[in-house]
Amino acid sequence: MNYHKIEKTSIANGEGIRVVLWVSGCSLHCRGCQNPKTWDLNSGRLFDKEAKKELFEALDKPYIQGITFSGGHPLEPENVEEVINLAKEIKEKFPTKDIWLYTGYSWEEIYYKQISRVLLYIDVLVDGKYIDEQRDLTLKWCGSRNQRVINVKESLKENKIVLYN
Ligand code: SF4
Repeated sequence: MNYHKIEKTSIANGEGIRVVLWVSGCSLHCRGCQNPKTWDLNSGRLFDKEAKKELFEALDKPYIQGITFSGGHPLEPENVEEVINLAKEIKEKFPTKDIWLYTGYSWEEIYYKQISRVLLYIDVLVDGKYIDEQRDLTLKWCGSRNQRVINVKESLKENKIVLYN
């Protein structure tokens, strides 16, 4: 998997101060996407051992609430296995940190696909493609009104979508 950036102190991509991993690759091509330079899977650089070390060191800081996976598309078929393994490892190493993930897929698409096991390791899922006609600048953590900020643990427990706020 390639990535564009490890952002070490973000306050715009989820609750609290967060580390953000901006991965490369997205085949969804939403009109009006803010990050088209990340669409190419080969853009950016390889997420190698050094990058992982850098990410974990950033996450280890006491003021960091957690990590957000964004992009690009973390659940792109070429990225999803590595993202799941990374999220699993983060949960084991940093049990007090939370994990957010932005995806162009809907909850339903993920839940009924083979990639549903990603839900075991993340706390908050921001789902759905960006729809330019539904753009809303007042939304706190997403760009268009169709997207949902989902409390994953509660949703799995209740067997229905429970929003984060
Ligand atoms: S899913 Fe995200 S990265 Fe991909 S095109 Fe849509 S807004 Fe851009």
